Amino acid sequence: MSDTPPTVVTNWSGNQSCSPLAVHTPTSTAEVARIVSAAAESGDQVKVIGAGHSFTSAAMTDGVLLRLDGLASVEGVDVLGVATVGAGISLSALNRELRSRGRGLPNLGDIDKQSLAGATATATHGTGAQLGNLSTGIVGLELVTGTGEVLWCDTIENADVFRAARVSVGALGIITRIAIETVPAFNLHSVESPEPIGDLLKHWEDFINSAQHIEFFWMPGTQIGLVKRNNPTSRDGSTLRTAKDKAEKLLVENMAFGAAMRTVRRFPGTREFITTAIGGLVSGTERIDRSERIFVTPRHVRFMEMEYGIPVAAVPEAFRRVQELASAMPDPPAFPVEVRVSAADDIDLSTAEGRDSGWIAVHRYQGVPYDDYFKGVEEIMNDYDGRPHWGKFHYQTAETLAPRYPQWDAFAAIRNRTDPDRLFANTYTQRVLGN
Ligand SMILES: Cc1cc2nc3c(=O)[nH]c(=O)nc-3n(C[C@H](O)[C@H](O)[C@H](O)COP(=O)(O)OP(=O)(O)OC[C@H]3O[C@@H](n4cnc5c(N)ncnc54)[C@H](O)[C@@H]3O)c2cc1C
Repeated sequence: MSDTPPTVVTNWSGNQSCSPLAVHTPTSTAEVARIVSAAAESGDQVKVIGAGHSFTSAAMTDGVLLRLDGLASVEGVDVLGVATVGAGISLSALNRELRSRGRGLPNLGDIDKQSLAGATATATHGTGAQLGNLSTGIVGLELVTGTGEVLWCDTIENADVFRAARVSVGALGIITRIAIETVPAFNLHSVESPEPIGDLLKHWEDFINSAQHIEFFWMPGTQIGLVKRNNPTSRDGSTLRTAKDKAEKLLVENMAFGAAMRTVRRFPGTREFITTAIGGLVSGTERIDRSERIFVTPRHVRFMEMEYGIPVAAVPEAFRRVQELASAMPDPPAFPVEVRVSAADDIDLSTAEGRDSGWIAVHRYQGVPYDDYFKGVEEIMNDYDGRPHWGKFHYQTAETLAPRYPQWDAFAAIRNRTDPDRLFANTYTQRVLGN
């Protein structure tokens, strides 16, 4: 265990910070349990921070902060393809380790910087109508509880804790090891094309089933959706123009936005021209590469994000309302809206618990006021029983969230057992879980 002197900790987007009393980097479960017991004795609260990529204050604490960089190795992959790993491992390291063993994760979100424990604590997801979020791949986990106990949890041992702890919002204890399902390593064939938004929404059901991984980006001010369809393939990418396409992908998803935002802010009259130009930039690109390279795009532009999960069938209507809202704003957002889908699951506080979900994510470039836009979007999402991503910005409270989660009380009961004294509480859990 190494201790570092008190410091200020900030999240990726720079909108959250805290000054922990102490920061520890334990290298074993036993050390984690000792830190937890010591904190409980001195009455300090404890939190783990992963990669600090949540836009909410989920990982912030003025108590004792743990970084699990020392619990980040792959213990092994069994014959069924289940990988047992240190919970602090980053998704990028996990992908590398799995690839070297001929394995991979079946799905990923847009980036791979998060820790596995942090990503799954907030129900991080990719896209795919038949695919659950990352937490659904967890088949076992080790939890250090608020009473210093170390519990292995799976569908047989401590099954009720397991059901809740796969999406814990960081509130049930410290997860030190995770067993997660993997699949044989695979390549993806990715096709990106600009398509009329009206068509995508009109044929929504067909659209979401038109590829294993489907999503689109819409730039406010345009009528075009930039569609990405990714499908597994046995081909390799050597025949495709990957360099050019990669450059285009980076440009469209990152740099062009950054440069364009600065121009629009300086010269508001250029907004229409710039947003139309960006919407039309991508002229249909095609790539084949390792799945983890296709799923993930480096994010060079910092931003604020809100993302809501709603019943998948409600997306066309809700999206049109977001379009109207964005277009009517005096300062229309010049950052794309991202739309994805994921399958229902049975995890207590998973944002997809009990329902196939459609995801609508809105962004504001860092430094641009976001309250009006985000509050307007949240109001729309409330009409569809929207569940905000636990790691992305939102204004909900325990009172408004509880009715949206049928298993809310089951989660609370588990929490009362694993953290009776609320050692793992912080301002975020106080707001969204009520204490
Ligand atoms: C640029 C960017 C792109 C993103 N893309 C996507 C995307 O495509 N899809 C998506 O769904 N989300 C996405 N997110 C959101 C992101 O995946 C989540 O916010 C995720 O929780 C961040 O992981 P982290 O390791 O940084 O966790 P942190 O933000 O550090 O922590 C999140 C929560 O997990 C808890 N936690 C961390 N480790 C442990 C542990 N070992 N035991 C118990 N609790 C723990 C923390 O205390 C905290 O409550 C994105 C975020 C950014 C900034």
